[in-house]
Amino acid sequence: MKDFVAERAKALTPSLTLAVDAKAKAMKAAGEDVCGFGAGEPDFDTPQHIKDAAVAALARGMTKYTPSSGTPELRQAIADKLARENGIQYKANQVIVSCGGKHSCFNVVFATCNPGDEALIPAPYWLSYPEMVKMAGARPVIIQTTDASEFKITPEQLRAAITPRTKLFILNSPSNPTGSLYTRAELEALGRVCIEKGVLVLSDEIYEKLVYDGATHHSLASFGKEFYDITVTVIGLSKGYSMTGWRLGYLAAPEPIAKAIDAIQSHSTSNPTSFAQAGAVAALNGPQDHLKAWLTKYTGRRAYMFQRLNAIPGVSCVNAKGAFYLMPNISKLGLAPMEFSKQLLGEEKVAVVPGEAFGTDKHIRLSYASSMANIEKGLDRIERFCKKRFRG
Ligand SMILES: *Cc1c(COP(=O)(O)O)cnc(C)c1O
Repeated sequence: MKDFVAERAKALTPSLTLAVDAKAKAMKAAGEDVCGFGAGEPDFDTPQHIKDAAVAALARGMTKYTPSSGTPELRQAIADKLARENGIQYKANQVIVSCGGKHSCFNVVFATCNPGDEALIPAPYWLSYPEMVKMAGARPVIIQTTDASEFKITPEQLRAAITPRTKLFILNSPSNPTGSLYTRAELEALGRVCIEKGVLVLSDEIYEKLVYDGATHHSLASFGKEFYDITVTVIGLSKGYSMTGWRLGYLAAPEPIAKAIDAIQSHSTSNPTSFAQAGAVAALNGPQDHLKAWLTKYTGRRAYMFQRLNAIPGVSCVNAKGAFYLMPNISKLGLAPMEFSKQLLGEEKVAVVPGEAFGTDKHIRLSYASSMANIEKGLDRIERFCKKRFRG
């Protein structure tokens, strides 16, 4: 048969995580007692008042196209939110609502990267970033981090990676998969390098609400006009409001970039789901008290997992400052993460995500967006598995 598939599609790496995930799901379906640490979404329900707003919108007939970049109400609610919570002033026409934060990230890359351009991505990275860059015909350039730097890059590393072809720096703080969080001073230093070198920053702040130990999330674009001019801020409803299935995310950008993305979206997806947008208005403008209870739960699970992981011989784990993941280093156990994950699933029925998916051959990712009972049982099994393999 003739090969109809485009080079750009062939260049993509199929999600490595799917292999383990598919096996875990099949085992569960077969009635096996699987402990899952793979969850990339909150285990809480969407707050009721948000659901009610979407239902009410449906009932009053909000079932048609909206403007392709989102309803005026939602774009204004987002602009208000960014001013109120993030200290950034955007006009509603600089805000684009898309079908998830992932779609927002894709739009930014697609609207700014030319073929041959380079995009800098610190590793361990969210696995979609390099693939988005490749889809735009550009080249992902990976900057490695270590446990010792808490998975954060330095301004020197950033500077050294920049070439005349560098167009974009993809920054994700708090981070999936590492849970790392840059301080204000660290962000400012990275931003200064980008200002000096004329590099655009895609600042993926989707986990902004999930920070621990009294830490504060800062938005790069809030640091002043020079920073604002080189930053596209991406956030979304998925993580902070447990709305992953609603498919709603947004970005705010300098006007020319927002305009370019508006055009792209108008010819690809058109608007995100109309009544879901009504739910998002309620989410952003309504009470935020669900967060306190969620953060208390995440904090307890994270502390427990952190302590248990570090007590396992041969395993070490940097504590996370944000998001809902820990990334223990398993390199002393003599197994590559993919092999570790396969054996762990086969032997102990525990599903984790191997580091290769995120650009590291030393770590696995564990999500604590699951019940304490699952976490306790899973860690007993992980401990048993690792003890059998540790050779001192
Ligand atoms: C979950 C996530 C997103 C966006 O998720 P959506 O469901 O598409 O809103 C974006 N970036 C990172 C790093 C994420 O983990």
